Amino acid sequence: MVVSFIPTRFISKQKIHAFPSPLLALSCTKGKGEGKRATSFYHKLLGIKDKHVDVWNIEKYSNKWLIELHTKVKKQKCPFCKERTKRIYSYRKQSIQGPILSNTPVKIIVKKRRYLCTYCPHTFYERLQMVDIYQRCTNSVQTSALTYSAVGFFTLVARLTGISTNRLIRLFDRHQLFYVPI
Ligand SMILES: [Zn+2]
Repeated sequence: MVVSFIPTRFISKQKIHAFPSPLLALSCTKGKGEGKRATSFYHKLLGIKDKHVDVWNIEKYSNKWLIELHTKVKKQKCPFCKERTKRIYSYRKQSIQGPILSNTPVKIIVKKRRYLCTYCPHTFYERLQMVDIYQRCTNSVQTSALTYSAVGFFTLVARLTGISTNRLIRLFDRHQLFYVPI
């Protein structure tokens, strides 16, 4: 039996591969049924409603979770000529902020596709429900932050959701407030 001793200061610098739940581990080893259930579990956990998004990899670091998502090829409607296309032009990795799970921030890397329209010469990125174009955090995090902002201080909400205070104020200012007369 070999017993190895690794000082704690080295462990914190190492990349730790771990599954937060046995469900994802199952998805890598078992059949399609378990894989689908694991994907559905992580979709709910991260607030993802796009069904063609798969959880590709999960890594645990000392200060964050890093989750890599891939999308499946899907027929897209060209935003310029409204024709449909499946022709892939290129890929891009978009880094976005996810929710805070057990006091640990989640960083999400989405591998997005850029499609080429075969009817007009335009290219365009696929649209996802989970994150808007040019946004740096998921829509579910934004919704939570806006909901908390209605009852709490910006600094506290920023701390709870992992968004910076300035970004939260900008987000709050962009949304119109509706008043219900009492
Ligand atoms: Zn087109």
